[in-house]
Amino acid sequence: MDQASVSPHVLIFPFPIQGNVNSMLKLAELLCLAGIQVTFLNCHYPHRRLLSYSNIQARFSRYPGFRFETISDGLPMEHPRTAEQFLDIVDGVKTTTKPLFMKMMISWCRSASDTRSPLTCIIADGLMSFAIDVANEVGLPVIIFRTISACSFWAYFSLPQLIEAGEVPFRGGDMDRLVASVPGMEGFLRRRDLPSCCRVKDVDDPDLQNPMKNTRQTHRAHAQVINTFDDLEGPILSQIRNHCPRTYTIGPLHALLKSKLATETSTSQSSSSFWEEDRSCIPWLDRQPSKSVIYVSFGSLAIITKEELREFWHGLVNSGSRFLWVIRPDALVGKDEERQTPAELLGGTKDRGYVVGWAPQEEVLKHPAVGGFLTHSGWNSTLESIVEGLPMICWPYFADQQVNSRFVSHVWKLGMDMKDSCDRVTVEKMVRDLMKEKRDEFMNAADTLATLAKKCVGEGGSSSCNLNSFIEDIRMLST
Ligand code: UDP
Repeated sequence: MDQASVSPHVLIFPFPIQGNVNSMLKLAELLCLAGIQVTFLNCHYPHRRLLSYSNIQARFSRYPGFRFETISDGLPMEHPRTAEQFLDIVDGVKTTTKPLFMKMMISWCRSASDTRSPLTCIIADGLMSFAIDVANEVGLPVIIFRTISACSFWAYFSLPQLIEAGEVPFRGGDMDRLVASVPGMEGFLRRRDLPSCCRVKDVDDPDLQNPMKNTRQTHRAHAQVINTFDDLEGPILSQIRNHCPRTYTIGPLHALLKSKLATETSTSQSSSSFWEEDRSCIPWLDRQPSKSVIYVSFGSLAIITKEELREFWHGLVNSGSRFLWVIRPDALVGKDEERQTPAELLGGTKDRGYVVGWAPQEEVLKHPAVGGFLTHSGWNSTLESIVEGLPMICWPYFADQQVNSRFVSHVWKLGMDMKDSCDRVTVEKMVRDLMKEKRDEFMNAADTLATLAKKCVGEGGSSSCNLNSFIEDIRMLST
């Protein structure tokens, strides 16, 4: 085939966890809408979950240039996949997926196929930096996609300086001490706000070394895409662009996708859930007064102990607020039989609370009855909350969430950071403050950011324009 006539064909390759697959599917759909051919390479486990619990088949069937391919992540299907086993997933991807991916790409790029058209670019999850080596090997350009915030990316990127300055690892000590080696965050970033990998004891610990090496690979890629928007993280993005000049900010992706779909004839609801969504919470919300409910969810990976569960429950009940709480079937620490939510808690929620195993979160957050979000500060959840103008109480669990929650409370003033504690008195006070006492304070900032978020994904907005430039770049790469 004549080189100039190759049409763009992108391979999108997410790390096999809910939040990452979720946002990369949105990216895939945006590219499909632009007429770009997309192959979505999904690991077997997320793929099976999506087929069981989401509408992805129907959702993508309208794009003739779209197809799924699957690959192993090395773990058996029944392997638990909470934050407790996160390193198993990382290891599985490194030892099994990486060589399989190399083989797959070599066979795809070096032998003619009747069924597959040539790839012109790989878009790999930032957690899969090995894709850069594979792409180099087969002569394809590679773009790194970040499912995390710019502020947390920048904290990870600054790890070598933090280590060099002796600020990491900090081996206990005063967790409120400010750190000085993350440019732009000098006056407010404390030890406890650094990515959780900084809490290791030994500088050679792979938990610290792996994310640092992964992040520092970014400049080897043709470009990087971050699911954020300029009005939210402008100063940090300037720092990042000094090192990675071709950084496209096209978030919040879910809002950008909705805005593009709104101009289409089809407006199908997109779900990418790995669990069955319990939609009974929607009629329950319909019966609650406006802005009276705090939505509580700790995402797809975080786990909590029974003691923590009790503290949250007492705090929520004592706050007097109504609440909708997601407790995933695998959210409680312990073996299967210990994973049951205590019956007395479920019974005791009936007055003002409702518990589900998994919720249609985007729909919940935009429901008029919801007035606040008690969240683990996962980046998707944070963006979804920002778009709906909801103030937050943050209880970050791990990884990037520690940085996000500091920005939510200290920089964007969208709520409170409860990190590293969850006693019932604190939970009660923070819920009261968020829903009543300090509501106006947080709502001003929340309204302003929601307006900016909606503006940036609209016609002529920064993320919308950046998406156009990004698509142009993908087209250029195919000529
Ligand atoms: N989510 C959902 N229903 C739930 C809880 C979470 O649909 O009951 C979705 C949520 O909308 C978000 C994703 O799961 O898009 C979680 O991603 P996030 O980055 O917030 O956290 P993670 O799960 O990666 O820790």
